[in-house]
Order: sequence, then C-alpha cells, then structure tokens
Amino acid sequence: MRILIVEDERPVARQIAAALTEAGHDPKAVHDGEAALDEVNKTPFDLIVLDIRLPGIDGFEVLRRLRAQHLAGRVLLLTARGAVEDRVTGLQLGADDYLPKPFAMRELVARVRALGRRYPEEPGMSLRVGDVTLDLATHDVHRGAQRIELSPRENMLLKVLMREPGRVFTRTELCERVWEHAHEYDTKLVEVFIGRLRKKLGDPPLIHTVRHVGYTIGNPKA
Ligand code: CA
Repeated sequence: MRILIVEDERPVARQIAAALTEAGHDPKAVHDGEAALDEVNKTPFDLIVLDIRLPGIDGFEVLRRLRAQHLAGRVLLLTARGAVEDRVTGLQLGADDYLPKPFAMRELVARVRALGRRYPEEPGMSLRVGDVTLDLATHDVHRGAQRIELSPRENMLLKVLMREPGRVFTRTELCERVWEHAHEYDTKLVEVFIGRLRKKLGDPPLIHTVRHVGYTIGNPKA
C-alpha cells in the first residue's frame, strides 16, 4: 500500500517508515499538517498514519479537511495513551482506527495490515460473516434469507464486528466506536447490546465472548 506518515517527531517517523517498508509497503513521511495536505492533494494514498499532536494544523484538522474533500484512503490515528476524548473525536471525524502512543512497531504493522484488508465501503457492497450479511448502503441485515430488524446502535455494533471477523474487540473499544460521546457510554451497555444482537441473530451463535478480553465475530467453527 502507498502510505503517508504524518509525524513531527522525526526519529519516530523514520522508524515507522522503516517498519512499513520492511512489511512491503511504500511509505512517505512528512512532518506537519500543511505538508500532509499538500501531499494528499498531489497523489492518492491508500492509508495515512496521522499523529494528532502536530505543530500548526493538528491531526484532527488534517482529518477534517481530508474528509471534507471526500478524499478516500484510510486513516490510522496516533493518539496519546489514555486520551479517550481524542480517540472518540478522531473516530467521529472519520478515522478508521487509532493506536495509542507509545506502540510497538509490530503492532503498527498489524493494524496497517488489518486496515488494508477491510472492505472498501462503497454503495452496493456488503459485509458477510458466515450466513449473515450487512448491506452497507441500506444497512439491511439478513441471516440466510431471513431479514433481521436491528436498531441503529445494534446495526453499528454489528458493522464494527463484521468489518474485522476474528479480531477481538475489548468492551471499551466497542464503546468508543459505537457510542458518540465518552460520557454516554458504559461498558455495561456493550454487554446489553451484544446480548440483544445475539438473540436477534439466533443460532448457531456468531458472536463469541473471549473471557476477560471482549468479543469477536466469526464462523461457529472457525
Ligand atoms: Ca507529535
């Protein structure tokens, strides 16, 4: 993938570029928001690794402008550890994922790989796990031929899980992706919504609990 790295700490930018090159990608690094916007306007990137804390235009503003121009490409935000509000703001602005700093380079490479595998979300496309499909344009969910009625939140939660079958999401991660404001959510809510989704999706169960960690979706025998 062609990847743009936006990171003002040059040694970190160099390390990220080296790790991504080694993983077979084609990265380019810039060190501030202005330069990032210039690059993106010149040539398309498949993915942008975007630090939030940048001199001048910060990462949020870069993200806002990219999305306002409908520039495609996935965005992985680099956030401060524990900064829940930053993560929620980033996801609301249209980031695809985030990674709290400091991180291990292999974790970054794994996240980049996962983002590369994700379905491009174009009208007419649908997500599928086992015999469950979710139409990204209409939000209709079917299990086999049977239509399943979900509330908007249940639908959003299912979509997050279905984008990455097999990935284990913690309750906190699911909260941040599905509920808009940090003050609105509570990890107990996730348990309640997972319970409802399971009931509506029926048997055999597709959503699995990973003890002491969280939830994942996948084929019953996978
Ligand atoms: Ca920074």
